[in-house]
Amino acid sequence: MSNDNVAGDLGDPDGSPLPQSAGLKEFRSAGRGFWSHIPDAQWQDWRWQLQHRITSLAQLQRLLPTLTPEEHAGTMLANTKLAMAITPYFFNLIDPADENCPIRRQVIPRLEETTTAAWEMSDPCGEDSHSPVPGLVHRYPDRVLFLVTDRCASYCRYCTRSRLVSNATGYDFHPEFERQIDYIRRTPTIRDVLLSGGDPLLLSDDKLGYLLRALRSIPHVEFVRIGTRIPLFLPQRITSELCAVLRQFHPLFISIHTNHPRELTTEVREALGRLADAGIPLGNQSVLLRHVNNDVHVMRALMQKLLMCRVKPYYLYQCDLIAGSAHLRASVREGLAIMAGLRGHTTGYAVPQYVIDAPGGGGKVPINPDYILHRNADRVIIRNFEGRVFEYPEAADGTPLVPAPLEIEEPELV
Ligand code: SF4
Repeated sequence: MSNDNVAGDLGDPDGSPLPQSAGLKEFRSAGRGFWSHIPDAQWQDWRWQLQHRITSLAQLQRLLPTLTPEEHAGTMLANTKLAMAITPYFFNLIDPADENCPIRRQVIPRLEETTTAAWEMSDPCGEDSHSPVPGLVHRYPDRVLFLVTDRCASYCRYCTRSRLVSNATGYDFHPEFERQIDYIRRTPTIRDVLLSGGDPLLLSDDKLGYLLRALRSIPHVEFVRIGTRIPLFLPQRITSELCAVLRQFHPLFISIHTNHPRELTTEVREALGRLADAGIPLGNQSVLLRHVNNDVHVMRALMQKLLMCRVKPYYLYQCDLIAGSAHLRASVREGLAIMAGLRGHTTGYAVPQYVIDAPGGGGKVPINPDYILHRNADRVIIRNFEGRVFEYPEAADGTPLVPAPLEIEEPELV
């Protein structure tokens, strides 16, 4: 059992503002970049953004002359694994002078993606084996994952569903909405439906309204969630018309997905504000990624900036064992050190739950630094974020509930 004060290793035990975080927390516009000649009405039109995505090597070479040999080769091969697509808006966040730009790493393919480690999988969360009808994953008793499309506004190079999204591997995904809805209607234990994909907010307002209305008409569905990266890749899609559709179907929660504070631009802040003003509680899921956010200053700035955008940090995921993602995967040790640098060092609301989605379909397992040092029948020995040690009696009045065992029982700790 480790008793390291991991937060101490980070050189910031008192949680004081750090100069490294200062620039990270500024809200800036993504700007217009190469598209400065485009009329404003087009730039603000989400369909224009989708139609003008960067999807080919030729486009990328023209727009990013600093393309590295690894990126060049990766882009050539991407269409056999996970297609490349980057909205013009999101492309403007890339720093062309920085080969390790955290935005660039997330969306530009690299040659390393073609290498698969022995422990990597095409379906690391075992979704396909828990699918009673096409497009529905029923892994937990009271909730289902409802996949609506295999398309996203841009494609993340570490995507857990890269077997499916963009259809580069010929997965041939065909959701069957009526069968999916019918299964939910016939299964009264389901009280929670998560719409995901692909990105549900790529559906038209009408189609989304139809789906939400159908789900809401099922009496045992108490709660609907949407998982989306659209507010980050395509904030133009968060129109007042879309918000007017969504606000009819409360309780409706939205989980966004962002990994680096630079993704939180003024455009994104406004788009998230529109969703929040529509009464939609917003949470965020991040993936721990090497060269992107495996740094406590970056992660802390991201979490604090999310709160400024009215979004509660929800999960920090250890990167799934998706085939070809080793170059992006940070270690669990780094993840734990980051969590130790958040808990107690910043607002509790800014601290997500770090989880590993257990390989093969075991579900999310919470992973925490070692705060319990010892535990037996009548007391727990704990340490706080500063490494100070405290004792707490197991029974509220200090009376042991059961006689203490002779040996101290050591809990399973990470
Ligand atoms: S937006 Fe989500 S589903 Fe789409 S590529 Fe990124 S991680 Fe995968």
